[in-house]
Amino acid sequence: MALRRIAVHFYELNRAMEIASFIRSLPKAELHVHIEGTLEPEMMFDLAARNGIDLPFATVEEVREAYEFSDLQAFLDIYYRGAAVLVTEQDFFELMLAYLERAVADGIRRAEIFFDPQAHTERGIDFSVFMGGFADAIDAARERWGISAGMIMCFLRHLPGDAAVDTWNLAAPFVHRMIGVGLDSSEVGNPPEWFAEVYARARSAGLHAVAHAGEEGPPAYITGALDTLRVERIDHGVRCEEDRALVERLVRERIPLTMCPLSNVELRVFDRLEDHNIKRLLDRGVRVTINSDDPAYFGGYVLDNFVATVEALDLDRNDIVALARNSIGATFLPDDEKAALLEELAETGAALEPGAPEPTQNEKG
Ligand SMILES: [Zn+2]
Repeated sequence: MALRRIAVHFYELNRAMEIASFIRSLPKAELHVHIEGTLEPEMMFDLAARNGIDLPFATVEEVREAYEFSDLQAFLDIYYRGAAVLVTEQDFFELMLAYLERAVADGIRRAEIFFDPQAHTERGIDFSVFMGGFADAIDAARERWGISAGMIMCFLRHLPGDAAVDTWNLAAPFVHRMIGVGLDSSEVGNPPEWFAEVYARARSAGLHAVAHAGEEGPPAYITGALDTLRVERIDHGVRCEEDRALVERLVRERIPLTMCPLSNVELRVFDRLEDHNIKRLLDRGVRVTINSDDPAYFGGYVLDNFVATVEALDLDRNDIVALARNSIGATFLPDDEKAALLEELAETGAALEPGAPEPTQNEKG
């Protein structure tokens, strides 16, 4: 009996490793990651020391303990405090390069990365400082590891629409280094319609548009982001399910949702990963994708999010390939680059079709 249990344990361990390496091997895109949310506690301490900044934590362990959030606001309070250690161009360069190296290790081939300029300009850090660091790191990563990356400038929605317009004006000399604009920070009570003007300006400058909506806020914010801000993707969007007509629209218009399962559990959007609606929406034909949001804070990068979701929702290989395909299809890459990645995915996905049969219920014991 004991031997059999050990055998099952090894079988499952082996299977988990096999699934992780299957997911890693598939070409994928990450479409929802905040670069400031990739600041690992170790780097936070290093940068604080280098820049002579006092942190309200004595050790890395204390930081990790503080990462027990009750909701989005509790997280944002710590997040903005952490971002304060980023001061020089070198700091922003190291932050971006560390994320991209991590992304490459997870099999990410294209990353479309959010940054929060107002979190830095409000502290007196100039656009040229963070844009210079980010852009150099993106160039270096492409050269070293072949990863493609683009930047999406997010406006903080807890600040007024006018502040977003001011930020847009400050960003003017750097717009050529961006692929799009987004909207993040505290959602409830800060509807998308307040940002109509800045989005209109960004779109007429040729930038793509995305927005966080329907994470904690109501489905009406998703509709508002689509109709008023004319966004091409919705970030999170988990609450779309409360509005049947909206779900049908998302399917019909093939609007991608950039979901972040581990983040949703950390911020209590869902109590448990088993309750997450990503599989249901995938089955209904919504273009859902798996992303990491703020991986340093929420306990995992893209691969971690995939593995945890596969286990919690019992996703099969077809689901995994569909999620990877959705992520590539939802990028803002030119059509030929998208097609090349999709072709590679089809080849890799097919080559790695299940070698071993799935265990039956009895074998799982
Ligand atoms: Zn986010």
